[in-house]
Amino acid sequence: MQQGFGRGRSGFLTEEEKLDRPQVTAALIKRILSYLAPYWKQLALVLLAILLATVLRLLPAILTGRIIDEGLIGRDLGRLALLIGLSVGVTLLSNLVGLLESYLNTWVAQHITFNMRNRMFRHLLGMGQRFFTTNRQGDLITRMTSDIQGVQQVIAGTFTSIVSNALTLVVAAAAMYQRNWILATVGLVIVPLFTLPTRRAGKARWTLTREAQERQDEINGILNETLSVSGQLLVKLFGREAYEAARYEEANRQMVRLNIRQSMAGRWFRLVLGTFSSIGPMLIYLVGGVLMMRYDAGLTVGDITVLVTLLSRMYGPVNALMNMQVDWIRSMALFTRIFEYFDLPREVTNTPDAITPQSMKGDIRFEGVSFSYDGERDILKDISFSLSNGRTVAIVGPSGAGKSTIISLLLRLFDVTAGRITVDGTDIRKLDLNFLRENIGLVTQDTYLFNASIRDNLLYARPGANQAELEDACIKANIHDSIKALPRGYDTQVGNRGLKLSGGEKQRLSIARVLLKDPVVTVFDEATSSLDSISESLIQQAVRPMLDQRTSIVIAHRLSTVLAADEILVLKEGRIVQRGAHSALLQQGGLYRQLYETQFSLSQEGEAGAEEGWQG
Ligand code: ATP
Repeated sequence: MQQGFGRGRSGFLTEEEKLDRPQVTAALIKRILSYLAPYWKQLALVLLAILLATVLRLLPAILTGRIIDEGLIGRDLGRLALLIGLSVGVTLLSNLVGLLESYLNTWVAQHITFNMRNRMFRHLLGMGQRFFTTNRQGDLITRMTSDIQGVQQVIAGTFTSIVSNALTLVVAAAAMYQRNWILATVGLVIVPLFTLPTRRAGKARWTLTREAQERQDEINGILNETLSVSGQLLVKLFGREAYEAARYEEANRQMVRLNIRQSMAGRWFRLVLGTFSSIGPMLIYLVGGVLMMRYDAGLTVGDITVLVTLLSRMYGPVNALMNMQVDWIRSMALFTRIFEYFDLPREVTNTPDAITPQSMKGDIRFEGVSFSYDGERDILKDISFSLSNGRTVAIVGPSGAGKSTIISLLLRLFDVTAGRITVDGTDIRKLDLNFLRENIGLVTQDTYLFNASIRDNLLYARPGANQAELEDACIKANIHDSIKALPRGYDTQVGNRGLKLSGGEKQRLSIARVLLKDPVVTVFDEATSSLDSISESLIQQAVRPMLDQRTSIVIAHRLSTVLAADEILVLKEGRIVQRGAHSALLQQGGLYRQLYETQFSLSQEGEAGAEEGWQG
């Protein structure tokens, strides 16, 4: 938790974000194209529409020359009206084609990102536990929302804008040369001068964009951490409001500075562009005038006007294309970041030949299992035990001994580092993941409930269950009466993470959820937190039958639970140091006796029927 609240950003993305620019390789382009490929027909239509709109948009400029020469200077009113009508008609048409183009554009962009978003979500759902414990939620959400949103803008904006601007330049230049090559060359000489300041401005903007993105991630992180249910509680409990507010304010202040700098970067260079763009037309008037008056080059006033108009139409696209360089790099960075996520290997996967047996019997064996989270420190060392159908194993041990890790390995939230775990004789790495997890029900200490109704939370375990089945499970879990007593019964909203329910109610609801799922194996991570004795005994009454009837593994903190187990494993620093039945272990002394004296006997007070069991 502490780490999550620290300032340092964790995970591999930080390393990536340090890179200045994305590497644009053929492979990257190919990969981007693979997302566009399914829509090549629509994209071809977009290109066609762009081409048509570009030509149509330039036509009125060319018609202006004829309006001047034939209509105004030629003093022909009929012709003037016709040309004006034509010009207006063409403008209308080009706008209509533009409309079609932006519709097609948006459609394609939306569909491409629709697919990308779904793929990303599915990919993230399949990521291992480690991924979620090492990545901040804020980063994941940014990737899922603003980055993919960015892709949509890239496709609908950057890509089409590059094509459309480049086309405008080509068509306008061709039309200018067709009029008069000298004037066209004079006009175009100005254009390459624009490229000079672009590189520096582009770089400055790029760095700022990157920084702004990091700052934004940080701000999102702070918001996610402090405004989450558990985060805000932590802030309150440690009285860190002022600290968090200051931290947020600082990040916010930096963001403001960055945003201002980002928006100003490149302005000075636009200023240069602006100046150049007014010099261009003047040069054409001057050279055109000289050519027309001194050299009688066959130029008309209309021609000169057309050239000036066409030139003025070029500045926009040149300007846009110059800025496009930054957009382009930014887009490539966006794709690179998204692909990085897609490329994260799934730690735990179904092998292609994964087996899905008809049913699970529930014979579980751990054979010399060792495990390390970080590849350095072994959390579990040479764990072996077996559990046959219908029996119960209790795992006890001090905090941090590795009890929960055993459960995580059985559920394949992580894969073992050495040894193997088998279910009914098959290595679980060869079993279909869904099959494995469907047949194992887990009641954790920290009950996770969705912010929905009690009914919906229950149905998550078995979507098709009817009311009678829901109630049956809730009766067995000793929660039915409590639910019935609520004004809205099963339709009661549980609140964010189920916070509107008491700890005991949540546990019982989670037991009901597992009963409803009706798995072959149940795993019960008994809450260490002390509940009042009524809650405690309600839970015990619910759990007992579950443990008696099923293959179960219990991380036990209560005497009564230990007593109900067929075998007790005493875990210390990742090793099983003692094993056996309660009375034998107690006679042995050692860690078990210590635990009994410190932990279990404390829990005795809350356990009505436990005393006699223990004495017997
Ligand atoms: P408790 O009774 O307090 O829940 P436990 O016996 O269940 O403890 P585990 O949760 O299995 O212990 O943790 C064993 C060790 O593994 C601890 O030292 C813990 O720091 C470490 N650990 C647990 N989860 C992770 C993880 N996701 N990444 C890295 N280390 C972890």
